[in-house]
Amino acid sequence: MSRQIYINGQFFDSENAKISVYDHGLLYGDGVFEGMRIYGGKVFRLKEHLVRLEESGRAIGLPFPISMEQLAEDVNATVKKNAIEDGYIRLVVTRGSGPLGLDPFKCSDPQVIIIADSITLYPESFYENGLELVTASTIRNHPAALSPRIKSLNYLNNILAKMEGLKAGCVEALMLNHKGEVAECTGDNLFIVKNGRLSTPPVEAGILQGITRDAVLELAREAGIETSECPMTRHDIYVADECFLTGSAAEVIPAVKLDGRDIGDGNVGPITKKLNEAFRKLVRQ
Ligand code: PMP
Repeated sequence: MSRQIYINGQFFDSENAKISVYDHGLLYGDGVFEGMRIYGGKVFRLKEHLVRLEESGRAIGLPFPISMEQLAEDVNATVKKNAIEDGYIRLVVTRGSGPLGLDPFKCSDPQVIIIADSITLYPESFYENGLELVTASTIRNHPAALSPRIKSLNYLNNILAKMEGLKAGCVEALMLNHKGEVAECTGDNLFIVKNGRLSTPPVEAGILQGITRDAVLELAREAGIETSECPMTRHDIYVADECFLTGSAAEVIPAVKLDGRDIGDGNVGPITKKLNEAFRKLVRQ
């Protein structure tokens, strides 16, 4: 189905939505992006996503060609133009085109791209029965090399780990950080439940500070569940009662096995179910 794709303030049919092959977003992964969900025609936590996008841009020294207010309007206009009730948005800002060299200062036309489309990431059975994880040997980018807090167009670190997971028959893989602690999965944050307490690795572990992660932490606190953001190892997951992942695309998805070991009794746990229900309610508010 043809979609109306936004590029720099104009709409194009998907077949005619084109970017220069000299764009450093393509040549070097030089750019930033966001992935957001649309629920009932409304973008979930648009403001928070735009703040993170702007911070990613600042972190790589990429000034945006339009104001954040205009960008918010344009995201909403793209959703409307495509008449999407429930779907997904990919918002991309590239460095723009320049000569064939790394120098980002020679690129003068950053491209703002907004794609609104439908999405089905995982089959419903994964949400009901949980998915299986394997630990990738590829560690998450060292924060001093390329901070995982930047949602950049350079996703090779995650892609390499994702390939390991898929080759092992798992749709998601666990990524450790340079200290051997749990960081996150290739496209999701990770939570565990132990003795009724909810824990997730802190931002300092080298993770993307997920918008869904923040929402779930809020929901847990509102439900009177004790929460903590503290470093954890794989051992903590092996001996956890429950585990689940969060992400805009994945939403809240239970994980019931890691490296061939059952997590808890190998079934989706009650706190995971409760938070998933609360999340599904929140996004429809
Ligand atoms: N970690 C990584 C590496 C991601 O790419 C994502 C987004 N897909 C997340 C975590 C989850 O972030 P959010 O909840 O903001 O989508």
